[in-house]
Amino acid sequence: MTTHFINNQRVAGSSGERIPVLDPSDGQVFAHLARGNVEDIGRAVKAARAAADGGAWSKLAPSERGRLLMKLSNAIAAQHDELATLEMRDCGKPVKQAKADATACARYFEFYAGACDKLHGETIPYTPGFAVMSFYEPHGVTGHIIPWNYPMQIFGRSVGGALAAGNACVVKPAEDACLSLLRIAEIAAEVGFPEGALNIVTGYGHEAGQALADADGIDHISFTGSARVGTIIAQSAAKRHVPVTLELGGKSPQIVFADANLDEALPVIINAIIQNAGQTCSAGSRLLVQASAYERVLEHVGERMRSLRVGPATMDLDLGPLIRANQLERVNSFLTNASHAGLRTLAEGSISPDAPAAGFYAKPTLIADVPPDSMLAQDEVFGPVLAAMAFDDEADAIRIANATQYGLVAGVWTENVGRAMRVAKAVKSGQVFINNYGAGGGVELPFGGVKSSGYGREKGFEALYGFSVMKTVVIKHG
Ligand code: NAP
Ligand code: MG
Repeated sequence: MTTHFINNQRVAGSSGERIPVLDPSDGQVFAHLARGNVEDIGRAVKAARAAADGGAWSKLAPSERGRLLMKLSNAIAAQHDELATLEMRDCGKPVKQAKADATACARYFEFYAGACDKLHGETIPYTPGFAVMSFYEPHGVTGHIIPWNYPMQIFGRSVGGALAAGNACVVKPAEDACLSLLRIAEIAAEVGFPEGALNIVTGYGHEAGQALADADGIDHISFTGSARVGTIIAQSAAKRHVPVTLELGGKSPQIVFADANLDEALPVIINAIIQNAGQTCSAGSRLLVQASAYERVLEHVGERMRSLRVGPATMDLDLGPLIRANQLERVNSFLTNASHAGLRTLAEGSISPDAPAAGFYAKPTLIADVPPDSMLAQDEVFGPVLAAMAFDDEADAIRIANATQYGLVAGVWTENVGRAMRVAKAVKSGQVFINNYGAGGGVELPFGGVKSSGYGREKGFEALYGFSVMKTVVIKHG
């Protein structure tokens, strides 16, 4: 689909230039995208402005907006298999993961459909003779920059919340993951979204993405991606004094105390690092285990790791390929550095002999005794590499857990409820899971980071406050 989607129509890019689309399972080009630029972003912003500034979208009652979001949710659910198939090809997601993403996307629109007419302000007691009320109003036009790892889920949570709050949206997906989102925008038009409410411009981050972050008609930017690009986005937004939500990376710890229920913990710990081949912002990429249980836990994790299989999306194995060649190089460079540093590779899974040689496959790998200050313990690998380390006691666990630049999610595994709560409160992160992890999408749960994991919250009702601006009206009635 070599077009953008603006004003409910497929629109050719102004430059005519194209970007090849690769299938990560076999490394082959199977489609092309329009290479968006400043001019294309300008057209999309103009369309969104018209929808937001007195256009049909801005005139809808919140309940009518809710009905449209619900229609979109139902249509995504009905076309679930088609969307999942697109995502498998575009992003290399195994069948189950691609379907889970489509389901989660439908669920975001369902949740936000129900929220549209429930975002209300307050009356505020003030001086006698005055009445004061507050309103949540939409920003107007919101810009959304989406990464490639969970395009449908992140689109659903970000755009779903922004539309529910009454904004018109301009979206720039990652050039590696556009196809499902272009189709969803088309579906939105089919179910009756007014022109300009939802627009998509494809292209490279440094061109179309940067143009969106810099565009004058954008009133709020929601960015999900790396900490490095997050800084660039925040600088662009600061120049125009527009608010930003930054959903950035993580190096999330799974903290396992010696009394943990391992039968419950082990499958979850494994899944937290292999889901989406480790390309997950909230991946549980650091395994912190109490010293007295360390060897025992690692033995079990290693055993499971060795049984894992990697292969093309259509084989629906434990892991699919990584998104592209340089992501595989990145993951391999972490492994090479770890081996040069003398770190112990305790276990790894295997790549199916049926996997095409030109695909981007990485084996899930468990590395033991990783020093907490080493690169592997500090940097986001964004691949299926689990870095294990031992801790002595509660204080030591908290110290190590907090000793990275990130603070997105943490998992705590213990049967001692007091300890679980103390650790949950002491860990610096946006979400903490006790004796579970990830909460299956957690559409209802406010999500976001602290430190270099970003600021602002998406998901849940909380996101609607970020996608709105409060206006206070003061009436003197005497
Ligand atoms: P990325 O390189 O930062 O890219 C994210 C998005 O920004 C893409 O659409 C990208 O476009 C665009 N972009 C790149 N440079 C830009 C610029 N100068 N101006 C405007 N936009 C620009 O991140 P990624 O590699 O796609 O995603 C992986 C990262 O996202 C990881 O760090 C992960 O932890 C994080 N992430 C965080 C969350 C969360 O909720 N906290 C969720 C998922 C992922 P192109 O790709 O087309 O260049
Ligand atoms: Mg692709």
